[in-house]
Amino acid sequence: MIALAALFALATALDPDPALATAAREAKVALVARHGEAQRARVERGVGQVVLYWRADDGDAAAFRAFVDEQFLSDPAALDATLGRLEEALEQIDGHALQVNRELARHAVLEIGPTVPADGLLAAFDAGAHVTEDLFASKLAFAALLNFPLTTLEERLRDGPAWTRQQWAEARLVGRVSARIPGPVNQAAAKAYADAQAYVADYNIWAFHLVDAGGARAFPRGKRLLSHWNLRDEIKASYGQPAALERQRTLQKVMERIATQEIPLAVVNNPAVDWNPATNEVRPAPAGTVETGATPPAQASAAREPDTRYAQLLSLFRAARAIDPYSPLAPTAIARKFEVEREIPEARVVAMLEEILNSPLVPRVAERIEKRLGRPLEPFDVWYAGFRPRSRLPEAELDGLTRSRYPTAEAYAADIPRLLEGLGFTPEKARFLAAHIAVDPARGSGHALQAAMRGDKPHLRTRIGKDGMDYKGYNIAVHEMGHNVEQVFSLYGVDHTLLSGVPNNAFTEALAFVFQARDLELAGQGKPGADAERLLALDAFWSAFEIAGVALVDLRAWHWLYAHPAATKAELREAVVGIAREVWNRYYAPVFRTRDVPLLAIYSHMIEEPLYLADYVLGHVIAAQLEERFRAAGKVGPEFERMATFGSLPADLWMRNATGEPLSTRALLENARRALEAEKG
Ligand SMILES: [Zn+2]
Repeated sequence: MIALAALFALATALDPDPALATAAREAKVALVARHGEAQRARVERGVGQVVLYWRADDGDAAAFRAFVDEQFLSDPAALDATLGRLEEALEQIDGHALQVNRELARHAVLEIGPTVPADGLLAAFDAGAHVTEDLFASKLAFAALLNFPLTTLEERLRDGPAWTRQQWAEARLVGRVSARIPGPVNQAAAKAYADAQAYVADYNIWAFHLVDAGGARAFPRGKRLLSHWNLRDEIKASYGQPAALERQRTLQKVMERIATQEIPLAVVNNPAVDWNPATNEVRPAPAGTVETGATPPAQASAAREPDTRYAQLLSLFRAARAIDPYSPLAPTAIARKFEVEREIPEARVVAMLEEILNSPLVPRVAERIEKRLGRPLEPFDVWYAGFRPRSRLPEAELDGLTRSRYPTAEAYAADIPRLLEGLGFTPEKARFLAAHIAVDPARGSGHALQAAMRGDKPHLRTRIGKDGMDYKGYNIAVHEMGHNVEQVFSLYGVDHTLLSGVPNNAFTEALAFVFQARDLELAGQGKPGADAERLLALDAFWSAFEIAGVALVDLRAWHWLYAHPAATKAELREAVVGIAREVWNRYYAPVFRTRDVPLLAIYSHMIEEPLYLADYVLGHVIAAQLEERFRAAGKVGPEFERMATFGSLPADLWMRNATGEPLSTRALLENARRALEAEKG
């Protein structure tokens, strides 16, 4: 454990200003003399915490001394009042910044008329970008650090179960200013992330130009597949279709060439060259096969992509390293992800990944899939999608149903109380929630935008086509409405706004999936039968098994980076591909009976949003636990409210309140085991 005392010693050792160290020593003596011996521990800690973050431009030793003398409090009533003031202030600052951003981005994101080029600039404007810097510059951050304790995750997990809500609010307040990252370092990181996102967003494979040795094409003209999402979804959608195997094998090879960077650079986002992924040959596309707007080159180069994929990851790593020294409690990107963002120790998450990967259910479910496919598994079957139950109505009929019910965003908004009553909320609660959710017509596929202060409303952005909301739009709207309902409860229903929210992103998504899973039922299509439930349990298990390996590759890549900070992009590529093969050989090869497959390194998240992938696994784990509870309750509404008003406490505490047990893979694995046994019998 990183004891805070050790951190303070480190800060003093690094501190180049002996005058500040002397001022801190004298301040402690004076404060103990003034506030009494009983305050010694608080004085030592508070002054130490201020020293940890104080910089020369905050003032000289005399200014430091004057500040701590004036701001240190020992009277409990004054401390409570100060916490209240700072809590109110942050609600105002965050709430208004969010509101400003939402208003500035309206034209870019909402379907409310033609845009002008400046709309993109307005959407990128962030009124809250400099809040942390301003909290330090105004010394509000120092007032918090002087009076309330900084905590490590280990301390929060060990002592937190006995804390009052007030103590949790204090921990959240100080946690908010536990990293003081200079503006230019933050800007450099934002630039690295924007570059990585741009690289990923433009990485398309033109499927019509994938050819076999005889020049035959397996995909229709015009099909453009964004790596990795569309490539993976095309594999999933191909099951049961003509030429499925041929297409799926081709797409697997494409993914492997991307991960290993053997892919010819000329074929990336280029509809003017043909490529045979099996042999890696490229040639100009024949006239007449080229999509409009592109011209085939005279010659096509077979030169491989020069490890640009890994150069992007390397630049994110360098951005993280630049932040590390300014985040003393969580001094690596890995620590920040697990200890600050997720608040679940890394070892705990890895143990859950391994419980799934090592589960004795893996060979049994694999066998079940082989039986359904009538052939041995191939590596791309990590994305087997055949357990998804089909809806009773064809999608075209569902489209008709939702289009006629929801011709406009207003029509959906007007139906929210009925939908929520269908989920078991009382009529009053449903009306309260509907009155606190604003519905807007989105340009994109739909999203939920939270509110950060009471008096403001979360926004549901939903996609309405010109003849109304299609089924896909409705399915997404129900998911996003789940986010909005959680947002209303966790803002309006929680006792401290410093505690609003849920433990982390995986919980947010799991709660939204509870709504989404009931979309057909809410559209009057009846509850899924026992068969469908069993299939869903197997689908959740196999999806968790797939993404657990991917998450492990992502995590191990970052450990390798921290162990090899001077690595080149080529060394990083070799390392990541090696890790992907190791993870494959250990957990997947036994059921796929093929070794050294690099497929698990294909996810684009690794390149643009590193260390995120484990949240998908946690999402499956959490959803299974919550569903068990909702099933026992017979409805969603009251339990959902009880869970969502608990606030953003760490995962185990939240889950104990929600379901009576800590976060655990038990429900996910048990559901799959029961499904296997029921199918057998
Ligand atoms: Zn979501």
